[in-house]
Amino acid sequence: MSVIDLRSDTVTQPTPGMREAMANAPMGDDVYGEDPSVNKLESELALRLGFARGLFVPTGTMSNLLALMAHCERGDEYIVGQQAHTYKYEGGGAAVLGSIQPQPLEVQADGSLDLKQVAAAIKPDDFHFARTRLLALENTMQGKVLPTEYLAAAGRLTREHGLALHLDGARLYNAAVKLGVDAGDITRHFDSVSVCLSKGLGAPVGSVLCGTAELVSRARRLRKMVGGGMRQAGQLAAAGLYALDHQVARLADDHANAQLLAEGLRAAGYEVEPVQTNMVYVQIGERAEALKAFAAGQGIRLSAAPRLRMVTHMDVSRSQIEQVIAVFAEFSLQ
Ligand SMILES: *Cc1c(COP(=O)(O)O)cnc(C)c1O
Repeated sequence: MSVIDLRSDTVTQPTPGMREAMANAPMGDDVYGEDPSVNKLESELALRLGFARGLFVPTGTMSNLLALMAHCERGDEYIVGQQAHTYKYEGGGAAVLGSIQPQPLEVQADGSLDLKQVAAAIKPDDFHFARTRLLALENTMQGKVLPTEYLAAAGRLTREHGLALHLDGARLYNAAVKLGVDAGDITRHFDSVSVCLSKGLGAPVGSVLCGTAELVSRARRLRKMVGGGMRQAGQLAAAGLYALDHQVARLADDHANAQLLAEGLRAAGYEVEPVQTNMVYVQIGERAEALKAFAAGQGIRLSAAPRLRMVTHMDVSRSQIEQVIAVFAEFSLQ
């Protein structure tokens, strides 16, 4: 029985085409700047997203950390969502390693930060305060897509106040596919963007930070400092290039599967939040552990949470989603 893993879109296996691209990748020592595959990935993605340079890093966490540290000095501050990955799920790295103070704000129901609250949180130039330097947004945010008009307004606000604007675009391409726009139409509002290759795009490892030449050269120095300078990383970069060329448009299938899952679970009596991309949130309440165990017995891997997140990805088919719906329906009758 093949396992259906809905815990995250990070669990995918490389496709045969991707493995072949990896096996054939030209390589060199990237710390010397000599890995042709890494160089190609960095310049290709920067070009596509409208930035001067890109930087290949092992993880999205490192990518966001380097961006925050490249934008901010010690004693500076960044404004960020209370539920944002950068703030909540990265071990407080910006504070620990960068001495950068976070100013978290509650995330709105649509995944955005209220720009009036952002404006009010920007501190005046006064030695009592940390210097507010950066606004960090996330898109998609728990599966929700930020409207491009909102991004434009955030861009205007940050320019007006002399702040930089960073995007945690771990799932940038889910947002672009959902909106039916070029990813560059999203990223053009930002000064830097971090993109994960290892989520829905299906590469085994890696993220890319894009920005100006100056920002990326600061980030490159910081990457070495935190131990992220990799040597013959070309195989990993080749997987990322393959994903960008072959596995972007198919994210629409994941979104359709997430819709199907949501509708099926609603029909089975579950309370399901509206779905936009590849994430389905369901209220399970106290039975979360019981559901996890029951599903595991049927070959389905879930997290255990009262508000359960399920994520669709390339290793889950439409017919497997139908199986999952049947298992949930059976569980609800117990
Ligand atoms: C996964 C993720 C990251 C980075 O995660 P890594 O596991 O460090 O690659 C950053 N932001 C968001 C929103 C994510 O989902």
